[in-house]
Amino acid sequence: MLNAVKELNGYPKHDPEHRSGHANGKANGKANGHRNGTTEHHDEPAAKQAIEAAVRTILANVGEDPDRQGLIGTPDRIARMYDEILAGYKTDPVKLVNNALFDVDYDDPVIVKEIEYYSMCEHHMLPFFGRAHIAYIPSDKVIGLSKIPRIVEMFARRLQVQERMTRQIAEMIDEILQPQGVAVVVEGSHMCSMMRGVKKEHPRMMTSYMIGKYKEDKELRREFMDQLRK
Ligand SMILES: [Zn+2]
Repeated sequence: MLNAVKELNGYPKHDPEHRSGHANGKANGKANGHRNGTTEHHDEPAAKQAIEAAVRTILANVGEDPDRQGLIGTPDRIARMYDEILAGYKTDPVKLVNNALFDVDYDDPVIVKEIEYYSMCEHHMLPFFGRAHIAYIPSDKVIGLSKIPRIVEMFARRLQVQERMTRQIAEMIDEILQPQGVAVVVEGSHMCSMMRGVKKEHPRMMTSYMIGKYKEDKELRREFMDQLRK
């Protein structure tokens, strides 16, 4: 049942061919569809060492001394931190939703708003963060409330662009629940724009992705947007 979800999840970790230049979100799931990021745990020590070596190289080349006291442990800290903030590659979406689907006779919108997330922009490897707001109109199933933030987290804890993350969240909910409609709105503050250029303005980026009734029905969309302003 969750084939497309597995596709969405599949960014291969150790395939150099796929490491660079997926600026276009559409290319990702499709190109790597047969792969699943959840299986490649065997060479994690090698991956960690490679990250450490890369961080050392960066430190040495920005004019630092990688061996000075404050920096000596930095490559190790960064490698371990990536394990946490990029953990979404290893999350198994099937396990994530396991046993959390419930049959219901209810067809008004279910809205979960103000879901805090932290992600990493894939263009600069700097954080972007904010809130995600999600609505769906059940057909005959709902998902446990705690699972929705975990779906957001699974997609946030990767190298991302906000537009693709928004779509992936919507598509996963659509696939799991096959609801009458899904709406996802994401707000993001991007460190890569906040730290650079004109520093006075911190525009927040808004992205949205609508499926089914939310795409077709303007009134439903407006209702959802009104809810977000409260
Ligand atoms: Zn960026």
